[in-house]
Amino acid sequence: MEIEDCQSEGFATRIITTQFSRKDAHGAISLPIYRNAAFEFETSEAIANAFQFKANAHTYTRISNPTVENLERKIKAASGAEFVMSLASGMAAISNTFMAIAYAGSNIVTSPHLFGNTFSLFKFTLAEFGVEVRFVNTDNLTEIEAAIDENTCAFFCELITNPHMEVADLFAISKILKAKNVPLIVDSTIVPWCGFNAKKAGVDIEVVSTTKYVSGGATSIGGAILDYGTFDWSKNKKLSNVTAVAGYLRFNFKLRREIARNMGACMDSETASLQALGMETLQIRFEHMAASAYELAKFLSENKKVLKVGYTKLDSSVYKAVSDKLFISNPGAMLTFNLSSKEECYQFQNKLKVIRRATNLFDNKTLIIHPESTIYGTFSKEMKDVMGIEDNLLRLSVGLENIEDLKHDILQALGE
Ligand SMILES: *Cc1c(COP(=O)(O)O)cnc(C)c1O
Repeated sequence: MEIEDCQSEGFATRIITTQFSRKDAHGAISLPIYRNAAFEFETSEAIANAFQFKANAHTYTRISNPTVENLERKIKAASGAEFVMSLASGMAAISNTFMAIAYAGSNIVTSPHLFGNTFSLFKFTLAEFGVEVRFVNTDNLTEIEAAIDENTCAFFCELITNPHMEVADLFAISKILKAKNVPLIVDSTIVPWCGFNAKKAGVDIEVVSTTKYVSGGATSIGGAILDYGTFDWSKNKKLSNVTAVAGYLRFNFKLRREIARNMGACMDSETASLQALGMETLQIRFEHMAASAYELAKFLSENKKVLKVGYTKLDSSVYKAVSDKLFISNPGAMLTFNLSSKEECYQFQNKLKVIRRATNLFDNKTLIIHPESTIYGTFSKEMKDVMGIEDNLLRLSVGLENIEDLKHDILQALGE
């Protein structure tokens, strides 16, 4: 499964063979964890050069760290991105991205169907800084185009919306955005790099919660920002002032040299070490989980007690054609299904023995959640309606258990 036709090595090989930026003094085969806060220098000149970016060296772990850099190198090898920055969480990746490009008077065009905290970041947190969010139906290209003006700092969407299971046609959207000089920013947490080629789809910036697939079994919280070097940031009113570097370098420059260090949400080196290990098994875990998810989606569709199943590879999904175009194999390990009522959902969840009641996605364990009463539990009824949250829907994140055991657990919980 090649991510770029021009890359000669396979996805897993590229990750596993990624070299350290410097040879380890003891020849350690995995990079040791650098838990130190600061780095010392031989001379006054050397430390001055490091601080003035005249030498490529680590100075202080909030700014950069060798263990974190090693994870970034693996993500770069996996994705083909030009620049990668790891941060403390998926939300840190999203908020740092918008701190770098949004300004008072700017607007973000997006779908109202967003991860709860992303919705809240746009609608409440950034709004108080004078940034406007413009919600559009991402299936409607005319509506997207009409919402854009000279102060649009980005079009943002999630690869597969959760829990709605919608897929925006990124190929078509990116064409419109290119003509309007607006960057395409995508949260690709739901399908990792071995299943989705962001650059081919026209994505300029990708944000990811590495807590999910990358962490290697829910080991730690993390996030990453990937910059494909495809957008000319001199077209962004704020970044047009960053004149020290060429247009396509400005986002990374602003992020690395100002925003990320000022926000301070750096990734911890212990997390980076766990997640670098997670990267090595990403493809094999993803392929197993996603194949099981497709099989369970078909299995649930055949059951009379299940009213509806959300999985974009099913013939019943209106997004099947777009999904088949965007995703290399199966569209991830998350699916949703509707039972007759909220009570039915509660009873079903309570009877499960193998599947665990927990939030999170893409753990090695299969997880189930009732989004309306949990993730969206504190939003008003009005907001839930805006976000399109149904109370008879369950979300399943399929793990690595044997598929027959998952099917058996589902059947017994349905009372069959
Ligand atoms: C989990 C998640 C996030 C937030 O990531 P954290 O690592 O929890 O901060 C953002 N977007 C999507 C789609 C997610 O699933």
